[in-house]
Amino acid sequence: MSSVSADDIRAGIRNVPDFPKPGIQFKDITPVLGDARLFAGAVELLIGPHAASRIDAVVGIDARGFIFAAAAAQKLHTAFVPIRKKGKLPHTTFEESYDLEYGSNTIAIHADAVRPGARVLLLDDLLATGGTAAAAIALLTKLGAHIVEIGFLIELGFLNGRAKLGSHPVRSIITY
Ligand code: AMP
Repeated sequence: MSSVSADDIRAGIRNVPDFPKPGIQFKDITPVLGDARLFAGAVELLIGPHAASRIDAVVGIDARGFIFAAAAAQKLHTAFVPIRKKGKLPHTTFEESYDLEYGSNTIAIHADAVRPGARVLLLDDLLATGGTAAAAIALLTKLGAHIVEIGFLIELGFLNGRAKLGSHPVRSIITY
């Protein structure tokens, strides 16, 4: 069990008003990453009950999701798979686009990143409107992966992003 609590993590998150634009309160996780105890505790909390179950890959979403997913994969002695922004992965990919407030975004995964039926844990730092995670789910579904859980360090509950994530189990360490 981790000696770090969700409240410890919450205390380590820095709220930056009006970044990257007016009206957005940015949840800055760098103070958590910069504290070895909090960083390790955050990874343990994200792994949660899955330390004891078979996970074939931990999938992280570009870019801050990589930090937690790579660390969790190492701890679980399993594979790490990146979902990247369009145009970054060199081999054959599947792509998925989703709408932003202005315009759209496209993310991609290597077509051979996980085998059909693979048990995957999908991680990102933060759930806001859910568009990014929903697109990641669509990519993993195309590959035939079994999504064991979608984990977030932070959930902005007032944006109701969960509603976009279908029936997949979702777990967040801290909710605002
Ligand atoms: P969304 O697709 O709206 O759920 O946005 C989630 C992605 O945007 C995550 O990968 C976050 O890293 C980033 N993000 C959105 N809102 C914030 C915020 N207030 N603070 C920090 N990161 C955010």
